[in-house]
Amino acid sequence: MTKNHMKTHCSILDSICLPDSKLPRIVIIGGGFGGLALVEKLKNKDVQVVLLDKNNFHQFQPLFYQVATSALEPDSIAFPFRKQISGYKNVSFRLANVVEIQPSSNTLITDKGSLTYDSLVLATGTETNFFGLENVERNCLGMKDIRDSLNIRHMMLQNLEQATITCNNEDRDALTNFVIVGGGPAGVEMAGSLAEFCKYILPKDYPEYPASLMHIYLVEASNELLGTMSKNASLKTLKYLKKLGVKVLLNESVIDYNGKVVQTKSGNTLLARNLIWTAGVKGHFPRGIDKEHITNGNRLKTDAYLKVEGYNNIYAIGDIASLISKDTPKGHPQVAQVAIQQGKHLAMTLMNLINKKPLTPFKYKDKGSLATVGKRRAVADLGNFKFAGYLAWLLWSIVHLMSISGFRNKLMVGFNWAVSYFTYEKSNRLIIRNFKPNLNIDESTEAISKKDLIPK
Ligand SMILES: Cc1cc2nc3c(=O)[nH]c(=O)nc-3n(C[C@H](O)[C@H](O)[C@H](O)COP(=O)(O)OP(=O)(O)OC[C@H]3O[C@@H](n4cnc5c(N)ncnc54)[C@H](O)[C@@H]3O)c2cc1C
Repeated sequence: MTKNHMKTHCSILDSICLPDSKLPRIVIIGGGFGGLALVEKLKNKDVQVVLLDKNNFHQFQPLFYQVATSALEPDSIAFPFRKQISGYKNVSFRLANVVEIQPSSNTLITDKGSLTYDSLVLATGTETNFFGLENVERNCLGMKDIRDSLNIRHMMLQNLEQATITCNNEDRDALTNFVIVGGGPAGVEMAGSLAEFCKYILPKDYPEYPASLMHIYLVEASNELLGTMSKNASLKTLKYLKKLGVKVLLNESVIDYNGKVVQTKSGNTLLARNLIWTAGVKGHFPRGIDKEHITNGNRLKTDAYLKVEGYNNIYAIGDIASLISKDTPKGHPQVAQVAIQQGKHLAMTLMNLINKKPLTPFKYKDKGSLATVGKRRAVADLGNFKFAGYLAWLLWSIVHLMSISGFRNKLMVGFNWAVSYFTYEKSNRLIIRNFKPNLNIDESTEAISKKDLIPK
């Protein structure tokens, strides 16, 4: 840390009001897994911590799909920052969207005003990557925010209601078909949960049409599901999904979508009003970082101490950071554990810098991967120990329950899961707000012939 970092603060550049403090100021942008882990480790230390986030809550992304499929309410997987930091004397939260970093003056520009920093930590995560497919982006839904999950839920429920109203078979097919793009954990978990919705809820709620009317397609560009997990996990997942009735299309990708007709790379078409995109993410962060320090996936190149290349006092952790080394030629995987471990490690680094102690490089400890496929089935890769089925699902449930912020949230999620374990009930099926899709249907592609459709 340079001398500049240690100076007393109350800069005239600050237009966001903060408590007076003579301590070095660490500003963290983003209270996701990485940012929060850092805050926790810096609480009550001799530094002024300012957490900035565009939301006033932390979101537990691994369970978005359960909000989308009516299994959980959004407030059971979101947690207010102010509650989290209550009692932390050296930590302030400010609700602000940071739009620009001005490294030359250690200043941040936000939608609410500016503020200065001694050390800056970028923990802003990722956004959905549509790989330049503009029509797809315009007409489908991603799953990167709790609002996205609610949009998916409302889209699905509205479309199922509309399907009971229409007498046109083709329209009804489109309304009850779901296409999920991306066979990673998010896509697999979403497909499994939707398939259970179809199996257990549809016949009860919509006796007008058979459950067999709802079709779920999972489209994956590579030749396997859960590509980052073991072969065993991938094959088991495929088997579980098929058993649940999901149609898995491997070596296939979506190239266009007008809100009703999905075009695939191999020339097939699918009719679906419901398209959910989980096929990729890219880093996003405020402007102001030199282009040469940005690498693949729009991530920031960091050194082994998580400092962004080319800067003295700017750090990056979590999904946005790319620490390229011999062991990690593509950077670390973009998962919660990496973000948490980097947040904790950076806290130690920053305190060691202030106290002029030696620094240690970051080393990721891989605790393994888990993914669930509907209820009672999951896959687990824990080092050399790879297993699947009920035990893996039990482990998945415990790990996720323990990781959710807040005792009340743990209780709510645990209670919901217990009820649904015995009843298969998904109780949150209210259409509270009217979701209006941004449809851009081109009539010429709407008139597709039946022979073009991928068979059900
Ligand atoms: C659907 C889904 C399922 C997933 N499932 C799993 C799983 O099962 N297991 C697993 O390990 N990982 C999973 N992940 C990945 C995991 O959620 C991420 O790796 C993790 O959230 C990364 O943490 P982070 O701190 O880097 O960023 P995030 O947790 O994304 O947090 C970023 C924060 O920055 C804030 N922010 C962003 N830009 C700004 C700005 N300009 N100004 C102010 N605030 C800003 C955001 O509001 C957010 O609070 C999943 C992700 C998704 C989307």
